[in-house]
Amino acid sequence: MAKKDEQPEVQPLPSPRLLPWHSAAATQLRQAWAANRLPHAILVQGADGLGKGSFAAWLSAAALCEQSVDGKLDVCGTCASCALIKAGSHPDLYWVAPEADKTQLSVDQVRAACEKLSKTSFRQGYKVAILEPAHQMTLGAANSVLKTLEEPSPGSLLVLLTSRPSGLLPTVRSRCQKLTIARPSTAEAMAWLQNEAGKSVSPALLAFSGGAPLRALSYADGRFDALNQHMQKSLRDLLSGDADVTQVAAEWDDSKDKDALIDRLVWLDLWLSSLARTAIAGTDDRVTFPGGPAPLPSPSRPLNISALYSMVDRTRALKAQLARTALQRELAVESWLIALLEALAPSRGGAPVARAG
Ligand SMILES: [Zn+2]
Repeated sequence: MAKKDEQPEVQPLPSPRLLPWHSAAATQLRQAWAANRLPHAILVQGADGLGKGSFAAWLSAAALCEQSVDGKLDVCGTCASCALIKAGSHPDLYWVAPEADKTQLSVDQVRAACEKLSKTSFRQGYKVAILEPAHQMTLGAANSVLKTLEEPSPGSLLVLLTSRPSGLLPTVRSRCQKLTIARPSTAEAMAWLQNEAGKSVSPALLAFSGGAPLRALSYADGRFDALNQHMQKSLRDLLSGDADVTQVAAEWDDSKDKDALIDRLVWLDLWLSSLARTAIAGTDDRVTFPGGPAPLPSPSRPLNISALYSMVDRTRALKAQLARTALQRELAVESWLIALLEALAPSRGGAPVARAG
């Protein structure tokens, strides 16, 4: 098979950076390094938004750093190797990510990286290849990885990054040392988030982001506030009868941006889950969004626990469907809204699905 001569489009690489919740994983690697037992292949697993990329960048920079000697694994930031990494031109570091407009790592990309790992290093140190996202490899690419895992060359380090380990071939998974990046505690995440954002941030933003601080940070620029305002208003309008399901569905999908609609569903999941908790506890356990708690359907009417939980499930199912398939979105959202009104007003004998008058 002919080899590709052209280089794939260069993507901006994450900078080497250890975040506070990376310290356990970093300690594990430092101990392995000090014992001269750094594995040939490491599977870094953890949710999106936890900075797996910057962790892998740190690991590769540290393994290549000229000061990482005498049992110490770190990034000095000043040696020739660190300078090459900063310039994005270290000859012994290969970062493989999907090419523009692609979602998968191709067999050619992965094979090229694996071949480089099998050769002598340019700078007499380690050779490092990072594959991201490792669960999005073609079968051919995975087979190339498998070959490298079976016959690792000395001084080579293969780092696979994934938020979905189950998406990897079990034979690949079992041949890598697993390293889990865990979510930080809420307190730790909030402290980091406020510091990075340079302002006070609502805990609802972290909850909305699934506890992943980097994801939360990307919404802290006002995007979350705008989403929150819009959702609070449209729910109030819907529940008061000022807007009907058709209007609200059109509003929620106004930008025709699938991800924006998915964001709304994540917000609704938070709100509905907190209503369900409120129904069970009998005390107000609604999540407090910026500007106050999201609206209650009817403060005087008891909430229907099972109807609320089935709405939570329905919200998650719709979100998963949107992410996977092309769907008649507006219709799907309308029927979700009708179900919501039925769940919140079970005793009215008929849901107010259309605006009166
Ligand atoms: Zn260095």
